[in-house]
This record gives sequence, structure tokens and C-alpha cells, in this order.
Amino acid sequence: MLRAPRDLKVEATKPPQPGPGEVLVRVDLAGLCGTDYSIWSGDRAVSYPRVMGHEFVGRIEAIGPDVQRVRTGERVVVEPNYSCGRCPLCREGNRNLCFQRTTVGIDVDGAFAELARVPERCCWAVPGLVADDDALLAEPLAVVTRAVKRSAAHAGETAAVVGAGTLGLLALQVLTARGVRVLVVSRSARRFAMAAELGAADTHTVAADPLDIVAQRFSGREGVDLVIETAGSATAVQHALSLVRPGGRVVLTGLPHEPTPVSFFSVVRREVTITGSMIYQDEFGEAVRLLESGAVRGRPLVSHRFGLDAIGAAFAAHKDPASIKVAIAPGPST
Ligand SMILES: [Zn+2]
Ligand SMILES: [Zn+2]
Repeated sequence: MLRAPRDLKVEATKPPQPGPGEVLVRVDLAGLCGTDYSIWSGDRAVSYPRVMGHEFVGRIEAIGPDVQRVRTGERVVVEPNYSCGRCPLCREGNRNLCFQRTTVGIDVDGAFAELARVPERCCWAVPGLVADDDALLAEPLAVVTRAVKRSAAHAGETAAVVGAGTLGLLALQVLTARGVRVLVVSRSARRFAMAAELGAADTHTVAADPLDIVAQRFSGREGVDLVIETAGSATAVQHALSLVRPGGRVVLTGLPHEPTPVSFFSVVRREVTITGSMIYQDEFGEAVRLLESGAVRGRPLVSHRFGLDAIGAAFAAHKDPASIKVAIAPGPST
């Protein structure tokens, strides 16, 4: 329970009761991400008290009245964003852009708890072959699935992924599954062995050589066809723009909070398409399918696992450069 910035404690509460159209999920595994960290630190405001946690897999513990689609005992992964369904943005299909969008674990209580209450429509059945450790990555995978879709990547193209964190290592796999050759670019070489294992054709640290030269070497032409930016910093945006070829596409999934200088002269002169990509619209099911087919692996990214009692250590581990995805297992330790 987060009562104020950096004031996070495990507390006993009454189990939430599912209302009409809602279900109670017993959380098996929840992922911690940068958003949780910025809520914990107070950089991102929420109303207190708040239970964080928006990336999770679990089992249906109880169902409220009028629940049709899911059954008690079913294993599900939760799509944590739901929108109003009534505004012009929702009606035209842009539900990820709805001003009244609600996120479980941010606007309402989430999954760093034994039980989480969510609308039935947020639950996706987890195919039997998909392990919890893989299903845990479905939410960030849906984010990059949309980004790759918006890049219009197709087989035979070259791509650069900027950032080798959770989103970068997932984007790499989605692109590779589409038959795209991928160069992973990161500040540190720490994840490059894993990137290679997950299909990267090449890796490069940003400090080594000028990125336009690196991209030319990799693509055998003026730069890569497309770039997926996942690091969410002003420098990462600039790196993305120096990697792409004239006429290429850059998709931004990170959210740079600082002012980001961009040479729009070069954007026009080189006719570069810059596209923003915000969470997901209809990509959650596709993310689950990618995990089921084995085209994308989540498990290698789960670097740490903590019980709920060690939630403080989990937040510290998230900041450790050696960690990728930190998982919380709220159940009794086995
Ligand atoms: Zn997240
Ligand atoms: Zn709406």
C-alpha cells in the first residue's frame, strides 16, 4: 500500500468484492516497471492510498454478478487499461487515447497484492503451454507489438531497436519474428549477449562509433529502414534519428519527459516519418499469441523475483542496472 511517495508498506486489508462485470484475480506473478518506480518515487502522481502493479498473471478467484466470459479457476493475464467506450476517441477505435482511460495499478488498485479486482473484459485466458514467467511479459509485449505494427515492418527489412531493456528485448523478438534483421543499440553492452541469443543480428553501444556509420555498415545502405525507440529519453530519440535511412520510419514508444531537440530540417530533407505509439489498442491478444507460438520469449527477461514482504528490495532491484524484469510473487513462498 503506497500512502505517499516512498511510503510503501505491506498491510492487511479486507479482500475486495467483485461488483457487476468484475472478477477477483489471485495474483501469481506481477511485473514491476519504470511506471511503478515513478509512482513509488512520487514523480508520477496518483491518489493515495494506492496498490500499484499493472502487469500480472493469476487465477480467477471469484466472479461478480453478470460475468459471462471467464470462470473461477481460469488462469488469466490482465490487460490493465480500459477506456470509457463512449467518447469520440473510443468510438473511432482510439481507445488507447481516451481521456477517461483507467489503468489498474495506477488509477485503481492493482496487482502488488494477493488479490486484485478488475473488469471481466480485461482478462485474457492464458493458453496452457504458456508459463507464468512468459505470460508476465504480455503487457509490455502488447506495447511493442503495437509499435512494430505502426512501423509497418516487413520481411527483408533492416531495423534498429534503441534500448535493451524489457521493451527493447521484446521489440527485437517481434521484429525478428516478422523476418526483419535487427541491430540493437544501447548505452551499455550488458544485455548484448542476451540480445544475440534472442535473435539480434548485431549490437552496438552508442558511445563507440557514430551511429549513422554503424547503421550504414549494418544495412549496407544509407541507414536502417526503421527504428523502434524504447528508451524514452531525448538522447534516445536523437540516436533513433541518426540510425534511420532517408525515407525511413522511426516509432517512439518511450515517453521522453524532457525537452527533446530534433533537427526538423533533417526530418524534412530526409523525409523521415516519426510516429508516436501509445500502449496498445487491439494488440493484447496478438501478444498472447506470440508467447503461445514461442516466437517471443518472456522468461529470459525475468531477472529477479521477490515475495510481497520484500517489495522494498524489489524496487531497489529495479534500479540495479543488472536487472531486467523484476517480478513479485504475492503468494506464499514455495
Ligand atoms: Zn509497465
Ligand atoms: Zn473514451
